[in-house]
Amino acid sequence: MQYNGVNFDTYLKNYPDRNGYFGKYGGAYIADELKAAMKEITEAYYTICKSAKFISELRAIRRDFQGRPTPISHLERLSNSIGTGVQLYVKREDLNHSGAHKLNHCMGEALLAKYMGKKKVIAETGAGQHGVALATAAAYFGLECDIYMGSVDIKKQAPNVARMKILGANVIEVTEGLQTLKEAVDAAFAAYAREYKDAIYCIGSVLGPHPFPMMVRDFQSVIGIEAREQFLSMTGELPDAVVACVGGGSNAMGLFSGFLNDPVEIYGIEPLGKGPALGDHAASLKYGEEGIMHGFNSIMLKDENGDPAPVYSVASGLDYPSSGPEHAFLHDLGRVKYDVIDDEETIDAFFALSRLEGIIPAIESAHAVAYGIKLAKTMGKGSVLINLSGRGDKDMDYVIEKYGIR
Ligand SMILES: *Cc1c(COP(=O)(O)O)cnc(C)c1O
Repeated sequence: MQYNGVNFDTYLKNYPDRNGYFGKYGGAYIADELKAAMKEITEAYYTICKSAKFISELRAIRRDFQGRPTPISHLERLSNSIGTGVQLYVKREDLNHSGAHKLNHCMGEALLAKYMGKKKVIAETGAGQHGVALATAAAYFGLECDIYMGSVDIKKQAPNVARMKILGANVIEVTEGLQTLKEAVDAAFAAYAREYKDAIYCIGSVLGPHPFPMMVRDFQSVIGIEAREQFLSMTGELPDAVVACVGGGSNAMGLFSGFLNDPVEIYGIEPLGKGPALGDHAASLKYGEEGIMHGFNSIMLKDENGDPAPVYSVASGLDYPSSGPEHAFLHDLGRVKYDVIDDEETIDAFFALSRLEGIIPAIESAHAVAYGIKLAKTMGKGSVLINLSGRGDKDMDYVIEKYGIR
């Protein structure tokens, strides 16, 4: 399929290019001391990802440890409650081991570390979801695991800190600056520059310098590959539309990659939070502009000095001031449509899915559910497949305290 000059038959092979560019987005804008380290990962990945042994080992892990394939569920009661005849379906990444899609790329990254002969994985974490997934992968492979986390986040995210420690990870407190995600990223990169002979850095989404946006997409593409096949065998057709929430954009790229070359509408949903004023949302593709941060060129939200702007969302997994470079590319091409959902619509969807279907979604995923419902109201007929990126256990106390039972 051709779309605005891009051939989607060969898209996944041709994008990114060898230097990590999706059009003008992506690349690797990093300090000199990290260049050698990044080159080592890039070269190893290009070789190892084609090895039959690596592929079959990862496939066995997906099946025997992660519990894949995850099912697709038809949301009959929710669809009936909308009443347009449109049928909603969810891809159940909440049933992936550890409760979200993040383990898909963490198992891939940790397996790559093993093939490269590394002894340790290093990462930062904000809300702790990436840290928990990576700690899970490290425990599975017997790798050391250093997770950098700001002091403020450590206090806020006690259950995830406990999970990481139980899984054997070292949670390293970062006390610089605002003591949150940004400082944790800096500390993790500094540690990686010192330790790269024995360690690899594992990013938490389709972000960062090349090769991470490509590697994480490839590891997450299992979602889209499974979903396409399952949906076809379940309904005999492709969905009319697919929907996923976009923080950094890994669960979305995983699902989208399976449908880019099909006559399927694709929607990426960003958090509008409290509204469109800068600081009240994290809708970088809708309100941002081109810029370089954290090692890559993409569309980002900037403050008056051109630095990453403060962002907010009810979903801590979505509050990032940019999105992966591939999303910026697909946004400009028009192949994927990006839209927003605010906190209130998200909480309504959180309760609707829980009450009508018996599935408590992560607040991140509830953004995609809310958009799926909205879309179904505007369509005359057809089907919408929503990526349910994770389960909502982590969010229940917060939702009840802040919003009560709806
Ligand atoms: C981290 C997280 C997200 C956001 O990350 P992406 O890279 O945008 O997918 C979405 N949903 C859940 C459940 C998460 O834990």
